[in-house]
Amino acid sequence: MSKLTLNLAYLYPKLLNIYGDRGNVLTLSFRCQVRGIDLNISTINPGDTLQGKDFDMFFIGGGQDQQQILVSNDLQTKKDELIELIENNVVFLSICGGYQLLGKYYKASDGSEIPGIEALDLYTVAGSKRMIGNVLCKEIESGNTIVGFENHSGKTYLGPLAKPFAKVIRGGGNNGEDGFEGVRYKNVFGTYLHGSLLPKNPYLTDKLIELALERKGLTMPEVSLNDTFEEIAHKKAERLRY
Ligand code: GLN
Repeated sequence: MSKLTLNLAYLYPKLLNIYGDRGNVLTLSFRCQVRGIDLNISTINPGDTLQGKDFDMFFIGGGQDQQQILVSNDLQTKKDELIELIENNVVFLSICGGYQLLGKYYKASDGSEIPGIEALDLYTVAGSKRMIGNVLCKEIESGNTIVGFENHSGKTYLGPLAKPFAKVIRGGGNNGEDGFEGVRYKNVFGTYLHGSLLPKNPYLTDKLIELALERKGLTMPEVSLNDTFEEIAHKKAERLRY
């Protein structure tokens, strides 16, 4: 049987990588490798051309407003291609600042509007108070707990075409008002959870890998992993105070 491979585009790693978000790519790579899946990682920086159809997965991390402006300018040149891929069920994990830029816009605290790519029915407005702390939420689709750390001033509001990713149990989430965290649209997962997110949420890592394989007509190899440390980290994070 030919080797299973997945191709991941890591968007703007030099600009959007606060709070260790690159740990998500390392985790995807590890949990593919132990299953005998080759995860080929390509970094995409401003000015790079995107051969979008070559990729099964995308990752974009979080960043400060200034970096988001630089990324937004380049994203506009890739907007149509990314929207087409998202509509074609590509797996896309987006964190915080990167998540915000998949929507219509992020209105920063100085009132300036940073355009998103309008792939998702949502918009973000900087609030007067940053939401910072350890978040505990429950994925709506599975009911599984998801843990992570948030630090954002942006308050994200979902439109009717975007469904929330999770229900907040402890923390701010999208906007500190509606009790929801993140977004799920087709195979796009948007979330405010840094940490990085995936090392402490092995269930979600495996879900992303499985969705990417399924999109290629492939099934997840039956390999049981020893998740002792991941579960200890997850349970400990569940008990952290905000
Ligand atoms: N600059 C954005 C905000 O403050 C995103 C921050 C982040 O990515 N952690 O909401």
